[in-house]
Order: sequence, then structure tokens, then C-alpha cells
Amino acid sequence: MNNKYKILLVEDEPSISSLVSTVLGNAGYQVIHAESCSFAKTMFSSYVPDLVILDLGLPDEDGMVLLDFIRRDSLVPIIVLSARTDEKDKVMALDAGANDYVTKPFGSAELVARVRTSLRFNRRTNLEGCLPDGRFALRDLTIDYGARRVFLADEEIKFTQTEYNIVALLSEHLGKMMTYSAIIKTVWGDTAHETSIKKLQVNMANIRKKLGSRPGENNYIKNELGVGYRME
Ligand code: CA
Repeated sequence: MNNKYKILLVEDEPSISSLVSTVLGNAGYQVIHAESCSFAKTMFSSYVPDLVILDLGLPDEDGMVLLDFIRRDSLVPIIVLSARTDEKDKVMALDAGANDYVTKPFGSAELVARVRTSLRFNRRTNLEGCLPDGRFALRDLTIDYGARRVFLADEEIKFTQTEYNIVALLSEHLGKMMTYSAIIKTVWGDTAHETSIKKLQVNMANIRKKLGSRPGENNYIKNELGVGYRME
């Protein structure tokens, strides 16, 4: 089978790497394993994986160094896997270009779901999945980028300019956790301080209300408190 997705797993903890390898192997992925930053750099260059799962606490260097190394010339999806639960660490990894962040301990099903989402997101950046006429479609949600109009099950939703910009931005990065600062920088050209975060949260509350979001339901936009938003 040479049509399997290749995943580079960078993890020094044997119990976790064997668990992740088994779980992803059973899900049909080919897993290549590296235990250090330096070995991972070699593996990354020679195997050109479709996705990288990266532990931040590695024996030789911090995983953030590898993240920077990969992002210098590759858009490959990177899922950070870490015991660090601090929101600041999540935000730093996401702003440095990680697509997603999974905190240990994690469930097998959750990890596989995140891998699948990140791989799908990567295909979308190659424009597969976007409709040919410049439209975006996700379940009942349609966005007409040319006309800047949004529809939910054929009914138009009236968004303000700012609300539309936020929704369009999240849709262009489907599946990716967008940090507050990344959204604020793109939409307002501003830095993330208390007032701008408040402004984003107010807009987001209106967007979610207009999209008919209800807690516990299969909503379009997920919020991770203190980190950011993700369309999925
Ligand atoms: Ca580690």
C-alpha cells in the first residue's frame, strides 16, 4: 500500500509513541517515528510526510524549534501533542503555524478525528473541496465569496461587514484553530489586547447566534476559551 497518508510522529515517550502508532496504523495511516528534533529534521526531509504530530518536550531541542524549521518552507499540517496545558503554549504553537493542538492525555478517537480534519484542511488549501464558482459549502452553510453573501439552507444570513470577514476567514482555514490574535490581525489589522479581544467576542457571539448555534449541538464554529475559534 503506497497510497497511504504518511504521518511523521515526533515523540520521545515510548508508551505514547507506540500507542499513537498503533491507533493511527489501525486507522489506515503509515507512521514514521522520530524520537528527537534532529532525527525528525532528517526524517522530514527524506520522507516528506503528509502530516506531522509533534511533541513539544523533546530530549535535544524544544519542539517549537522543529515547528519553525518545518514552517520555513512547508505548509504540511502539524498537530502539536503536548502535556503543556497552559493556554499561552497553545497560542504560541498555533501562532507559529501549528494547525491544531492536542493535550495529553487524549482519547484515541479524538486524535484520529483531529488527524482526519487536518488532512482535509490541507487538501482544501489545494482548492479541492471549494466549489468551482468561488463558493464554499459546509453542510447547510454556503458562502459566495464573490458576492460576499452567506446562506444557511438557502436562506440568506445578514452579516455586518466585520462579521462576514470573520466568517470568511474561518471558512478559508476550515478545520484550523485560529487564535484570537490571528483573527484580530487579519480582520482589524490590530494586536490582540483586551479591547480587541472583547470586540472579537461580541462579533463572534452575533455570528454564532445568526448561524443558529446551540450549546452541545453540531455547530459550525467551535470556541476554545483563551485560545481561539475553529470552523468545522
Ligand atoms: Ca516528551
